[in-house]
Amino acid sequence: MSEEISAKKIMDFLKPRMNARFKTWLNICAHCALCADTCHFYLANDRDPKMIPAYKVTFLKDILRKKGKVDREYLQKVYDTVYHECNLCRRCALFCPFGIDIALMIGLLRSLLFSLGIAPEGLKAAIENYRATGNQMAVSEEDWVDTLEWCEEETADELVGLKIPIDKKGAKIMYTVNAREPKFYPQDIMEVAKIFHVAGEDWTLPSKEGWDDTNLAMFCGDMETARKVVENTFKRADELGVQQVAVTE
Ligand code: SF4
Ligand code: SF4
Repeated sequence: MSEEISAKKIMDFLKPRMNARFKTWLNICAHCALCADTCHFYLANDRDPKMIPAYKVTFLKDILRKKGKVDREYLQKVYDTVYHECNLCRRCALFCPFGIDIALMIGLLRSLLFSLGIAPEGLKAAIENYRATGNQMAVSEEDWVDTLEWCEEETADELVGLKIPIDKKGAKIMYTVNAREPKFYPQDIMEVAKIFHVAGEDWTLPSKEGWDDTNLAMFCGDMETARKVVENTFKRADELGVQQVAVTE
């Protein structure tokens, strides 16, 4: 028998988040299917009706109608849809005559699942890393700074005078990277340093958390961690007094 999930927990999560916009969207959908052809999952799956954007959010309506009384087997179906049949591109919203934003509702379902501990393992691990270190790859501050210094040494051999400025107050641009770069692709940082050097730009990288411009927590609907990731970047930009933040992701 499929494991029961606390209906109260589900409704406690959904109720405060079911704002007027979500309620209206669920009620006014005319099931006209005009959004169907806008979805690449629908087109790539022989026009399977289950891939029509409006159909994918019937789970939300269903869960509300059942007052949260669903089991784990049911939630697995929700998981398969919200992670494997929609990538939150929001294209369907542009074509819906009512402007119904399916992706926002799919995002709400992802948030609900995350609150119940259901999410792709890779994303869950990345979230733990963000919480512990501020970046998705769990690169320590020491390793990050070491990598930048090493990148500067290596690149300066090729371009004399090249610097990778760390924590330069009042620089014009604060540059941020994907945390996979210091971990696996430091050559990307070196290439960018060359461009900044040749362009004569006034730039810097922060030594503390806020330099990772990915936000995988957002894809899980973990808005608390997602907000913290963005806040870190704003905090560093404020501290350094830069004019712009360059986001490469
Ligand atoms: S979401 Fe919009 S386009 Fe899609 S079926 Fe509903 S009303 Fe039609
Ligand atoms: S937001 Fe999701 S349902 Fe809408 S077009 Fe994109 S992938 Fe399809």
